[in-house]
Amino acid sequence: MPAAYDTNNIFAKILRGELPCYKVYEDEHVFAFLDIMPRSHGHTLVIPKAPARNILDVTPDDYAHVARASHKIAAAAMKAFEADGITVQQFNEPAGGQVVFHLHMHVMPRKDGEPLLPPASRKEEAKVLEATAAKLIAALK
Ligand code: AMP
Repeated sequence: MPAAYDTNNIFAKILRGELPCYKVYEDEHVFAFLDIMPRSHGHTLVIPKAPARNILDVTPDDYAHVARASHKIAAAAMKAFEADGITVQQFNEPAGGQVVFHLHMHVMPRKDGEPLLPPASRKEEAKVLEATAAKLIAALK
């Protein structure tokens, strides 16, 4: 059995506005913001507003809302960052590579020939993240 949802995980705090983030999209069901240690330029995280640790406890509807928003963000990111492709990943439990225990989908724009950076290898500068968020927000309109 996976552990119970921890209401003090870092993404729950972002959702409650207790921690800052570079928000790019929000609707009734989901929230999306930039990964501050991006594995590619424009790396975005899409999370459900409903509390869910991962795929093992999320409702099918909430998972579908996250997938729908990721689909929208992928299309916008292709334009915003002149990407050649998109990698979507979603990790579950430590054995599955999960580090933050509020379900999230990674949407990572890709350029031909550019490998993904390893996870959490480098914190991006605030001014770069601000400009990146502005570009993605504009492409989502
Ligand atoms: P995962 O391995 O799928 O749980 O990945 C967690 C992701 O959250 C990593 O890509 C981190 O770079 C990212 N991350 C951690 N803290 C923050 C934060 N405060 N704001 C945005 N992204 C974060």
